[in-house]
Amino acid sequence: MSLKLYNTLTRKKEEFIPLNGKQVGMYVCGPTVYNFFHIGNARPFLVFEVLRKYLQYKKYKVTYVSNFTDIDDKVINKAKELGSSYDKIAERFIAEYFYDADFLNIGRADFYPRATEHITDIIKFILRLQEKGYAYVVDGDVYYDVSKFKDYGKLSKQSIDEIKAGARIEVDERKKNPYDFVLWKKSKEGEPEWSSPWSFGRPGWHIECSVMSSKYLGDTFDIHAGGEDLIFPHHENEIAQSEAVSGKIFARYWLHNGYLKIDNKKMSKSIGNILTIRELSQKYDGSTIRHFLLSAHYRSPLNYSIEQIEQSKNSIETLNNLIFNLNFFSQSKQIHKKIDEDSKKLTETVDRMKDAFIEAMDDDFNTPIALSTLFLLAKETNIYLNKTKNKNLEIINKVIQFYEEFGTNILGLKFSSQLSRQTMLPETEIGHLIAARERARKYKDWETADKIREKLLGVGVIIEDTADGARWKKS
Ligand SMILES: [Zn+2]
Repeated sequence: MSLKLYNTLTRKKEEFIPLNGKQVGMYVCGPTVYNFFHIGNARPFLVFEVLRKYLQYKKYKVTYVSNFTDIDDKVINKAKELGSSYDKIAERFIAEYFYDADFLNIGRADFYPRATEHITDIIKFILRLQEKGYAYVVDGDVYYDVSKFKDYGKLSKQSIDEIKAGARIEVDERKKNPYDFVLWKKSKEGEPEWSSPWSFGRPGWHIECSVMSSKYLGDTFDIHAGGEDLIFPHHENEIAQSEAVSGKIFARYWLHNGYLKIDNKKMSKSIGNILTIRELSQKYDGSTIRHFLLSAHYRSPLNYSIEQIEQSKNSIETLNNLIFNLNFFSQSKQIHKKIDEDSKKLTETVDRMKDAFIEAMDDDFNTPIALSTLFLLAKETNIYLNKTKNKNLEIINKVIQFYEEFGTNILGLKFSSQLSRQTMLPETEIGHLIAARERARKYKDWETADKIREKLLGVGVIIEDTADGARWKKS
């Protein structure tokens, strides 16, 4: 089966064929590092990294690049606000970014280029734009002349006239056209600055992504992704800069995720409803937040509400309990080698779910459908664990493997570590205690058995005695 991706450039689902065989170059616009990132920012970071994991599952060799915008008005203002310097602010919030990204189990990129570490490359790039007649200088500022790039508007599907009409009427007579954008900004007093042929100043925002993506991935690469709010002007401007310089196609597949709202309202400072991952992590674990973010198709809008996130929490708990029980039975001696009808049926379900998972992911990586296979299988497996007398080890291991391969390796859901965090006891420890209690019961040492039961209850673990031995549940 082949992977199809929706390309914003053509507004169509297209078969994904990388430029160079199994090599894939992928660039995702990263954060401006002046604050903790919120759940809306988290969506592109998380979903596109799931796509990368899926591409790796399909044996592609992915080079994944995500930038840090570490110089920007926002960074400078934050530094002023806190009486700090721009580089200290950036350094701190890059560290905070990694802390939250690790909490969400977002895999690390291969490269995290920073704007301030590429000033020389950026200056060279702007010089080339100038040589080719795409840039002009006014009082130390350098602008991109949009009227010179004939394909301008091809990503956002707007004509120059439409863009003109939509452009905010800024009275900036220094620009040739109102929609021309800045490539190099002359510094104001007290601002951080770098020397350049035009002025002491700093790069504009759009130019860093053009420069750093081509540096790590080449002039033409496979996938460029980000939030849909970046289509215009950011990504449109990246295309204008890069294709003007190289004369080649810039990114081949443009992927954009939909908006995230909080209680059906746009997140904004003025409403005061900005929800950071750091805040959310006080109440929910990483897998719950992951489940929530993957529960809608990445191109659809997603609404955050307490009900939604609680539902995700319950869903993850269902899987946690299942995985624990599966592990418990796989280590139990009361397991049969015989394959009865129930075992055969469950084997078939696993195979069906695998196919369904892959089919969903191949269809423009439809994570809600892929996720649903985890729960359909959970339902069948729970019935099997509860009712089947001759539980078969091979099939139990096959189910465990399904969750590792698709739940953890691709969707990034962590099951066991989550258990230990919730119960404050490592999973193996719970296993040992249950085994010790089983032994005590066997020798009719009810006092010890009860003590262990109480100890487990104290950390939120309920034991249920079944015909096959004890089973575990979170209270
Ligand atoms: Zn970008």
